[in-house]
Amino acid sequence: MRRMLGCFVILLTIHLNLSANETDNNKTSSYEEFHSYTNQLAEKYCSVFYLSVDHPRAIALTFDDGPDGKNTSKILDILNNKGVKATFFVVGMFANIYPKTIMRIVADGHEIGNHSWSHQDFRAIDNRHIINKELHPTSELIEKITDVYPKILRPPYGVIREDTIKYLASSGWKIINWSVDSYDWQRDISVDDIKKQVTEYIHPGGIILFHSSIYKDNTVLALTDIIEDLINQGYIFLTVSELLSSAVKTLEN
Ligand SMILES: [Zn+2]
Repeated sequence: MRRMLGCFVILLTIHLNLSANETDNNKTSSYEEFHSYTNQLAEKYCSVFYLSVDHPRAIALTFDDGPDGKNTSKILDILNNKGVKATFFVVGMFANIYPKTIMRIVADGHEIGNHSWSHQDFRAIDNRHIINKELHPTSELIEKITDVYPKILRPPYGVIREDTIKYLASSGWKIINWSVDSYDWQRDISVDDIKKQVTEYIHPGGIILFHSSIYKDNTVLALTDIIEDLINQGYIFLTVSELLSSAVKTLEN
């Protein structure tokens, strides 16, 4: 029951956040449907599929789609300069090209999560293929580079079938989406709008979506101000695994 209450609190937080987002006039109905669907998944599979956690002060910055040869290193410089930890959901085929950046992510104290090998839509491929061709090769490569086999993943585009969630849960995976979207995936979003999306809609226990790929120059340009604002708001920064393990609902179980 307490665990169910924990899930409810999380969902309420997400709902409030999304309601605020929905007042913006440039959000498509399909994106609203996406959030509605992921909210349902987070409620139904609340110990496996996460948008956020119940925590009074902590948040987690996450960066998808790296590593690359340019922006991931710039993001690491900023995080290092601010003394902030984050989580990088990396694509296996890019980790294969930039293993030194993977080494640096870990050496700097950050966490690495799995964002598939080739960034395919998981809804279009069967569960064995997802494990054998997308998730396992990526985590195996990360383990070769860092000695750690990641068991947290973010599905490409944040989309996943329910049968896949159950399949992955049975082998100990945690699926991590987000509750605060920087919208840096939008091609023409400005630096100021990225800052606004994060600093206005941030909430305790939130997981924040950014990207660290080669075209994300505006993410790099926005990041220092965002971190300074979040520090001034009193937030502390944890990796995703730290956030999950220190969440209130976990302590109650
Ligand atoms: Zn992605």
